[in-house]
Amino acid sequence: MASVIVDRRDEKIIHLIRPGAKKKPAHNAPPARGAIRLDAMESPYTWPAYLRGEWAEEMQKVSLNRYPDPQSTDLKAKLRQVFDIPAATDLMLGNGSDELVQIINLAMRAPGRTIMAPVPTFSMYEVVARNVGLDFVGVPLCTEDFSLDLDAMLTAIDEHQPAVIYLASPNNPTGNRFAEADIVQIIEASTGIVVVDEAFAPFSGSSLMGLVEKHDNLLVMCSLSKVGLAGIRLGFLVGQSTWMEQIKEARLPYNINALTQYTGEFVLDYFDIFEEQIEQTVRDRAWVVENIRRLKGVEVFDSDTNFMLLRVANGRAEAVDMEMRERGVWVQNFIGDHPMLRDCLRVTVGKPSENVAFISAITSAL
Ligand SMILES: *Cc1c(COP(=O)(O)O)cnc(C)c1O
Repeated sequence: MASVIVDRRDEKIIHLIRPGAKKKPAHNAPPARGAIRLDAMESPYTWPAYLRGEWAEEMQKVSLNRYPDPQSTDLKAKLRQVFDIPAATDLMLGNGSDELVQIINLAMRAPGRTIMAPVPTFSMYEVVARNVGLDFVGVPLCTEDFSLDLDAMLTAIDEHQPAVIYLASPNNPTGNRFAEADIVQIIEASTGIVVVDEAFAPFSGSSLMGLVEKHDNLLVMCSLSKVGLAGIRLGFLVGQSTWMEQIKEARLPYNINALTQYTGEFVLDYFDIFEEQIEQTVRDRAWVVENIRRLKGVEVFDSDTNFMLLRVANGRAEAVDMEMRERGVWVQNFIGDHPMLRDCLRVTVGKPSENVAFISAITSAL
């Protein structure tokens, strides 16, 4: 009886919240202590102890009774240096690039407008589009190699005239970069903006940042999350001021808190440490790929990121995932996700010892 009442109440709330919303199953399992977490594309590395000590000292100077600098002026200056952001471009910071997606979608929102992305891709583009009341159109990638299906994209652009197109390059969860020539054609065909999401670019050694000055409707989005700072929540968006000035209207003034600003300023002075960690991860990625290729019953796709997409035998993904979990190794599965990800698992490159544990766990699980 009680559950019926709860169900009806849930339905009413869901309807009041947002017509068309659905009740969602809770999906985040509590973090397991001691597990090897290779499921979230995080860096496995922290900073050296001396640096953490210095950082803690510095943080004492932050005046938490005051509002943070709404323009994050000093942090932006450091980001421009470290990431070679062209001087003539405009820059906006977000509380993670998730928030930048939300800001962009809010700024571009109007009845009947569409957000587009090739799929499968980063789920936040669709989640945020729907949350702010926009339609989402996903255009399937090519099945063989997850490259952009340029003809399909151009046809869909023509048909839907999307306000925003998101291109994660390298893409999550497929791990590959898209061809620059394809991206440029999409930028030129689009009447709205094209956001190239380069959250994984540090692992691919290539970036389209240099094209921002050529195309006024191209915005390049970056994040510090995958390179070792997921906890501070910092992403940035680069574009020409014509579009950026308008998009900035949708940003709340104090979205980057004082601790994030100071931590960002502090660590960017030591970014060479992060660069070494990135190089280590790229080397270890090759080791993991090589060792997976020795196994039967699993295929691994080429990766330009800090993770690999794997495909196991038909219908085996859940069992392999569960078996590895039993052994304390967490990866991501895609049960119920896009059909192109059937039988797929995504594994993050960890520390060398974690990669050894992963290879051992998957060998047993297969
Ligand atoms: C992880 C990820 C991000 C980063 O999001 P943050 O909010 O900055 O942590 C952005 N884009 C893609 C494609 C990602 O996989």
